[in-house]
Amino acid sequence: MTGGSTSGLRRRNRDIVLRTIASGGPVSRTQIARRSGLTGAAVSRITRELIDVGLVEEGASIPLKGQVGRRNIRLELGDKGAFVLGIALTANVRSVSIGNCRGEIVSQRKVTGVNMEQPEEAIRQLTKAALELIADTDFDSSRLVGCGVSIAGVADPDTGDLVRPHHLGWEARPLGGEFSEGLSLQVRVEARPIALLMAELWGGAAAGLRNVMLISNGIWIGGAIMLDGIILRGRNNMVGQIPHMKVAGSERRCACGRVGCLNAVASGTTVLEDLDHIRLRGADRQLEPGDRLQALAKLRGPEHTAIGDAFRSAGRHMGYAVDSFLEILDPELVLLAGSAGRHPEYLAGVRETLASLRPGEDDWPVMASIVTSDQSAIWLALEAFVYSQDLDIEQLKVA
Ligand SMILES: [Zn+2]
Repeated sequence: MTGGSTSGLRRRNRDIVLRTIASGGPVSRTQIARRSGLTGAAVSRITRELIDVGLVEEGASIPLKGQVGRRNIRLELGDKGAFVLGIALTANVRSVSIGNCRGEIVSQRKVTGVNMEQPEEAIRQLTKAALELIADTDFDSSRLVGCGVSIAGVADPDTGDLVRPHHLGWEARPLGGEFSEGLSLQVRVEARPIALLMAELWGGAAAGLRNVMLISNGIWIGGAIMLDGIILRGRNNMVGQIPHMKVAGSERRCACGRVGCLNAVASGTTVLEDLDHIRLRGADRQLEPGDRLQALAKLRGPEHTAIGDAFRSAGRHMGYAVDSFLEILDPELVLLAGSAGRHPEYLAGVRETLASLRPGEDDWPVMASIVTSDQSAIWLALEAFVYSQDLDIEQLKVA
């Protein structure tokens, strides 16, 4: 509990210092004070507390010019101060990971044979796999502060409830509470595009930016939007969920009944339909759609032009949507994620359409995102429970 306002202020200032070190490190105490607006005394007191619990370490020191004997010590994140659990639960990725507070994955397990037909059973299997991973990993588990669940579906971040799980074929359910009970950890659930965007903002291509759209495109198309430093939610937590956005140039019918939806013309599913005739070596028939899409995406080069063409064609349709987002959102960056979205031919298709719609321009802020679902779950947990005013520093003092 935050208690009184003094305690709330302490938490806020601690969060500011920790975020400054996490996003800009290694940094000196003087630099932290300058960037945060806090006094030197406050920064010294807070960094001492963070060093004592292992979240921050003192690194190399450099002599200060013109000040004999005085040195400037750089502060950086420790790699054993706090840990988080990440669970990725999408149509084609089910995995559990443990990450340190630098966002580095220290152990990980793919969970196979998850019974997606039975949600209770799937949650039980993932919980069991996570508890086993915690037991088998060589780390101080008393420093495990929370869990992030990156999911194919729409979640309410305040309650942890899964509110639109149709990509998984599930009904709405209190997923965060269910995982929290099984794991005895605090849990944050977010739609995968939002979690991917958080990962990109912390350590990836979007670091330091404030206006970013991420379009996630595996089997389904989803998205997340940050404007002026705030991730947008909307009335139903549906901002960025764009599978049924209609784009010009195709008469293909979507599963929803309409014609020209992004999911019908520009998704990984579109690519799979176009490449239905391609036979892969091995147990092709047994592959789930997401795995087949990943296998196809790896086949590149002149002998696989049909595959490249299918990705490029889907990308051309996405180009119309990207053109609209550039126009409406004025973003610094649009990131394309997922095994379809990040394919080089897909990106080339997007650029082809932009070139046709925006003659005279050739420098659009559009690029592929390379963060994985596993990393997104880890960063989601770090954002919720470490780089947060909710950081429970007492837990780390006892640890
Ligand atoms: Zn549709």
